[in-house]
Amino acid sequence: MSSFIPVNEPLLNGNEKKYLMECIDTGWISSEGPFVPLFEEKFSGRVEREHGIAVANGSGALDIAVQALGLGPGDEVILPAFTIISCAAAVVRAGAHPVLVDADPLTWNMDVSQVAEKITPRTRAIMMVHIYGLPVDMAPLLELAGRHGLKIIEDAAEMHGQTYNGRPCGSFGDISTFSFYPNKHITTGEGGMLVCNDSNLAERCRSLRNLCFQANKRFVHEELGWNYRMTNLQAAMGLAQLERLDEFVMRKRVMGNRYNELFRGVSHVQLPVARTGFAESIYWVYGLLLDNDVTFDAEGMMKRLGARGIGTRPFFWPMHEQPVFRKMGLFTGDVHPVAERLARRGLYLPSGMALTERQMEIVAAAVHEVLA
Ligand SMILES: *Cc1c(COP(=O)(O)O)cnc(C)c1O
Repeated sequence: MSSFIPVNEPLLNGNEKKYLMECIDTGWISSEGPFVPLFEEKFSGRVEREHGIAVANGSGALDIAVQALGLGPGDEVILPAFTIISCAAAVVRAGAHPVLVDADPLTWNMDVSQVAEKITPRTRAIMMVHIYGLPVDMAPLLELAGRHGLKIIEDAAEMHGQTYNGRPCGSFGDISTFSFYPNKHITTGEGGMLVCNDSNLAERCRSLRNLCFQANKRFVHEELGWNYRMTNLQAAMGLAQLERLDEFVMRKRVMGNRYNELFRGVSHVQLPVARTGFAESIYWVYGLLLDNDVTFDAEGMMKRLGARGIGTRPFFWPMHEQPVFRKMGLFTGDVHPVAERLARRGLYLPSGMALTERQMEIVAAAVHEVLA
């Protein structure tokens, strides 16, 4: 094997260097620089929202979203068991109570049919999280939210450029959030964004991002916020990346389709669903789910691929099986068999923006070999 194929490598060969040099040449490197509002305007416009609030990362965006919507003690928030910890962490840190639903065995997104039965008089919000490439089937959730007066937080961290029935992901929540970590479709190194249409809500998000400093008495605080500001350097990168979003989404689809082709007819694994009635996958990552007849689990598969020079990552570990939450007394008695199985049998292959056709062929050959 010539060289290791990393699980992710970003593509930074557009205007990134030019805009970054502009920051350095002008001395604007903090969050006060001009690229921040420009990136907020362009990005929120792209997802058809009135307001964009750039932040330090996608996890912080979720913290702010939960806080800005006023969710706290006594409130229940429904969210998927199969997601990144940031989602449940934001709810728990706010003092609200997370209520989990299992994943759909095919799309790996939250099983929307389980949400209605979880609604109680204390339910205040649904956090919808789009997983790996396909959006959650949002129509039933929006209907439920409307009927029960629930707020919607839409975590679109993995969905830049994706649409649901033709409308941009990130345009559906009372607040929607994004991440710009280097494995997302566009990156700022670290970074995130909240988007919404309500100007009061946007103002609250801006304040929470900036330690809740006040306009007149700067160092007198009525509320606790965070320093989750995005720097001008990050926003400069983001702007350059955003210019190429369509190209990047297309690239990811070509990549996903190529993997689908290379794995056509393969047995012992379940491949990602390519399309649903409302969207075509943008393959944020290309996942594989091992059938039960494979004698090793995802960890064993990752070890075997690693020995062949191929980087992988395991799927998310479900929220109800997180030691940190168990120690808090959360989710006792929760059983979510699909999420549990995804965690043990799922992994994803190199899927970064810089991945080449040749690398994909090497990866696929190794997968075939390991499964044979
Ligand atoms: C990446 C990701 C996040 C967290 O974003 P960070 O910028 O890494 O903090 C949140 N939610 C989902 C679904 C993600 O994929």
